[in-house]
Amino acid sequence: MYLKSIEVQGFKSFAHKIKFDFHNGITGIVGPNGSGKSNVADAVRWVLGEQRVKQLRGGTMQDVIFSGTENRKPLSYASVAITLDNSDHQLSIDFQEVTVTRKLYRSGESEYLINGSACRLKDVNELFYDTGIGKEGYSIIGQGQIDRILSGKPEERRELFDEAAGIVKFKRRKNMSVKKLEEERQNLLRVNDILAELE
Ligand code: ATP
Repeated sequence: MYLKSIEVQGFKSFAHKIKFDFHNGITGIVGPNGSGKSNVADAVRWVLGEQRVKQLRGGTMQDVIFSGTENRKPLSYASVAITLDNSDHQLSIDFQEVTVTRKLYRSGESEYLINGSACRLKDVNELFYDTGIGKEGYSIIGQGQIDRILSGKPEERRELFDEAAGIVKFKRRKNMSVKKLEEERQNLLRVNDILAELE
């Protein structure tokens, strides 16, 4: 699996629709200060479902929408789509190529799509569990993140190893099952109470 392209429109400094094509191998993005290099990484973080505006270097989520310049009016929505080559089927979805899209309108409305079909944020998260790509993954190492990992709590570091070992999805499923079991236990208690009252 590898990143084939990123398409952005109205996201941060990218007012026009622009597509970055990547090929197998290493790609470097160079440019003067403030030209938008970090915005490319932010776009990837965002489309993967990042909800923490601080991680996106903004004050509110709407700050990711192009806010205009002297010559260009602000735009009403931001859109980012990443396309991944999935010919090795590392993503458990039956497509050779997977495109994940996120859109946000100034009104606050937002949408996620996987290969053009509307989906929930949860579906995007689940698609990337244990691949290292998700928003909690280690595929994007931001400035200062290495320091945070080294000086972080052991539990936080453990999360990173869990993701690399591919056990996050099992842990989440286990937590959901434990929660359901507890709910059923409560239901059973109620049924027993009712039965006792009837006897
Ligand atoms: P450096 O090399 O200094 O780290 P960089 O190339 O990584 O810089 P970025 O931080 O990606 O640059 O981009 C900063 C630019 O993006 C600034 O000029 C800022 O005005 C612009 N920008 C950020 N958000 C928006 C927005 N919502 N609308 C328009 N422009 C934006």
